[in-house]
Amino acid sequence: MLDKAKQILRKHYGFETFKEGQEEIIKSILDGKDTFAIMPTGAGKSVCFQVPAQLLPGVTLVISPLISLMKDQVDSLNEAGISAAYINSSLNYGQIEERLQKAREGYFKLIYVAPERLESQRFRELLQSVQLSLLAVDEAHCVSQWGHDFRPSYRAISSVIREQLPRPVIAAFTATATKEVKEDAIKLLLLRQPDIFITGFDRKNLSFSVMKGVSKRDFVLNHMQDNIGKSGIIYAATRKEVDGLWRELTRRGYRAGRYHAGLSDIEREESQEAFLYDDIHVMVATNAFGMGIDKSNVRYVIHYNMPKNMEAYYQEAGRAGRDGEPSACILLFEPRDVSIQKFLIEQNTRAEERQNNEYQKLQSMVDYCHSQRCLRKYILNYFGERDAPPSCDNCSNCNDETDYVDITLDAQKIISC
Ligand code: ADP
Ligand code: MG
Repeated sequence: MLDKAKQILRKHYGFETFKEGQEEIIKSILDGKDTFAIMPTGAGKSVCFQVPAQLLPGVTLVISPLISLMKDQVDSLNEAGISAAYINSSLNYGQIEERLQKAREGYFKLIYVAPERLESQRFRELLQSVQLSLLAVDEAHCVSQWGHDFRPSYRAISSVIREQLPRPVIAAFTATATKEVKEDAIKLLLLRQPDIFITGFDRKNLSFSVMKGVSKRDFVLNHMQDNIGKSGIIYAATRKEVDGLWRELTRRGYRAGRYHAGLSDIEREESQEAFLYDDIHVMVATNAFGMGIDKSNVRYVIHYNMPKNMEAYYQEAGRAGRDGEPSACILLFEPRDVSIQKFLIEQNTRAEERQNNEYQKLQSMVDYCHSQRCLRKYILNYFGERDAPPSCDNCSNCNDETDYVDITLDAQKIISC
C-alpha cells in the first residue's frame, strides 16, 4: 500500500518524497487506525488524507471550516485528475442536488463539506447510502472551546460517526498542539485509541535567543545598525511602545513602519504594503500585525516584550525566514513583561478556569525565558515533539553567547497562590 501511496504522490502531485510525518500518518490511516496529526501550517496535512482517500475502497468525507479553503483544495485535486467535489452554501439548490446524485453514484473519491452541512437531513441520507471509508477532520481544533476558532457545528461530527455503519476510520488534523485542544478533540471526535503524530514544528533555519538584563532600547539600536537594509519585525506589547520605538527609529533615519489597532485602516494597509514591497525595512507592531502575511525574506523578529504564551511567540517568531535562509528570533525579557501579561489576563479573562489556563501558559512562556537548556528543544517539547536532540547549536543557550547575571529569579514563579 505504501508503495502505491508513493506512486500517487509522484503521479498526481509531482512530489518525489514525503515530507516529515506524512508517510507514517498515511500508513496509520491505511492500517485502519484512528489518527490524530498535529503539524504546523504549511507542513502538508492535506496530502495525509488525500492520498489514503485514493487508496481506500469508499468515499472520504473531509470536514473543512472555510469555503475558500475547500474550493482551493477541490480545484487542485480536480486539476490533478482526482475526482472530488465540495457541497456547501456557495452552491444553489440545483447544484447541490446534482452533486448529491453524483456522490450517490460513486462519482467522487473525496467530498468536502463545512460542519454545518452535517446538520442537513438530505446530506445525512447521502451518507447512509454511500460507503464511507474515511472521515477526515481538517482544522480539528475548531471542535474545542480551548481552540482559537471554536465552531459549535464541529460537534455534529460525533453524531454522524455514531450513525455510520460500518464506522469509518477517523483522522483529525490541526496545527494547534495544546494539551486541552488535543484531549478535547480526541474525546469529541470519538477517536478510538488514536495514533498521535506531532511533527514538523522545527524550523532549522531560525536561531532563537533570549536577552535578559540588557537595555532593550540600546539592543534594538545596535541591532538596527548591524542589520541595515534587512527586513525585520519588532513586536511590542502596547501601541504606545510601538509609537515610541517607531518614532525613534524613523528619527534616526531607518526605514521603519508601524502597525497597530489604533491606526486607521488606510494607514495600516499602507504600512503593510510598504513592508511587503521592501519600501520599509522594519515593521514595529503589536500582535495585530502578521496574520496571513506571507513575506519570505524576513531576517529577524525581535520581541521587545515577552508575549502571553508560547503559541503566540512561536507563531510571531515563525514569520522570520520562510524562505529557509538563516534568520534570527530574539526575545528581550524583563520582569515587567510578566506583570503586563498578568494584568492583561486579569482584564480579559473572566472565567476562573480559563484564567488558570492562561496563567499556566504564561508560566511556560516565562520558563522559556529563564531556561538554561537548548531553546529549540524547549519549544519542540512544548509543542509535543518528544525526540528533539538535547542541543541545537543555534540558540543563545547552546551558543552561550550571553552570560548576563540573572537578576530576575524572584520573578520566575508567576503563580503565587
Ligand atoms: P497544511 O494543511 O499542513 O498547512 P498543506 O496541505 O496546505 O499544508 O500543504 C502545504 C504545501 O506543502 C502545499 O503547497 C503542498 O503542495 C506542499 N506539499 C505537501 N506535501 C508535499 C511533499 N511531499 N513534498 C513537497 N511539497 C509538499
Ligand atoms: Mg491545511
